[in-house]
Amino acid sequence: MIEQYGWSDAWATAFEAQAQAGQAPGRVVLQHRNGYVVATDEGELQAKASGRLRHEAQEVGHPAVGDWVALSLNLQDRTATIHAVLPRRTAFVRRAADSVRRVQILAANIDVAFVVTSMNADLNPRRIQRFLAAAWESGARPVLVLTKSDLSADPQAEAAQVAALETGCPVLMVSAREGVGLEALRLQVKPGETCVLIGSSGVGKSTLVNAFLNEDRMATRAIRASDDQGRHTTSHRQLIPLPGGGLIIDTPGIREVGLIDAEEGVGAVFDDIERLMQACRFTNCSHTNEPGCAVQAGLADGTLEASRWTHFQKLTLELSEAGDKAERVAKAAERRRLGGLQKVYRATKRNDRGGAD
Ligand code: GDP
Ligand code: ZN
Repeated sequence: MIEQYGWSDAWATAFEAQAQAGQAPGRVVLQHRNGYVVATDEGELQAKASGRLRHEAQEVGHPAVGDWVALSLNLQDRTATIHAVLPRRTAFVRRAADSVRRVQILAANIDVAFVVTSMNADLNPRRIQRFLAAAWESGARPVLVLTKSDLSADPQAEAAQVAALETGCPVLMVSAREGVGLEALRLQVKPGETCVLIGSSGVGKSTLVNAFLNEDRMATRAIRASDDQGRHTTSHRQLIPLPGGGLIIDTPGIREVGLIDAEEGVGAVFDDIERLMQACRFTNCSHTNEPGCAVQAGLADGTLEASRWTHFQKLTLELSEAGDKAERVAKAAERRRLGGLQKVYRATKRNDRGGAD
């Protein structure tokens, strides 16, 4: 049963001590005001964090959707107590509004982050970079998705523009309306892997979730929420198994994760600079000494204050460094993983040879 939620040998190894203590593993599929719903080998159970975990959580963050947790079960009333959170392989975090030190875990153990942007809206490279930075930072593998290709006059050209950003991740083009490209998207999520869709509102994320699930689950949820009968049901999972063996996490908080502090703060404030940069003669202008640079022109004639430009550059650099760092971390993790696999492989080969002799 929990294999369906991505349980693997690696998780079982991480869980050994808890298993010996008689605890059961489970994955958080829903977080609500009064607690959690966890998927276990005994089915879905209502769960609450133990007092001790709640205390510790001030540092490591409270259990979140996608977390693997150690439970004591009470099967009589189908409840469970969460005693520990297994070390997260990846996590989307955001700083708590009231403190710089406390973090809130938005979702955990995500393998693939689809960064969704739509082809009919103006392509916004900085927004794309920001969502990608959030994805890299989480440790998940980003995949850039260009939606609504049916609305683009020249989808290939637009895709080429995005490819020119050299994001270092796959770029896929889809049209949910025409059913184009969906299979390639599904193939990015291997059985047992968990994905999320992040991106601005209106780009087509719910539509893609529906396409993934082959059913109108999101609309169903809206209808349920509006009728009294459904209002108090808490069984709408936020971690949902996909038909192909993968899983998807869809919580209100996760979708616009890249925008939370960055885009709203920076983007709104630096709208004018963004417009100037779009007016440069060359699309790859570095805004230092190119002919026809609108930024340099703005600095020269005083429409752009030098201090604002410096501040903007600093913030952009920080964001891209955050992205680079996350990329290095992700690559190092991948190397370690491959290294581990190679060791196992070599050991198997040795044993094979031993057997043949
Ligand atoms: P979300 O806010 O990112 O979840 O976006 P939605 O999934 O709600 O989609 C926003 C709008 O875009 C809706 O009116 C959808 O019908 C429309 N939409 C989604 N995918 C496509 C597509 O592939 N082609 C076209 N033409 N419209 C789409
Ligand atoms: Zn320029």
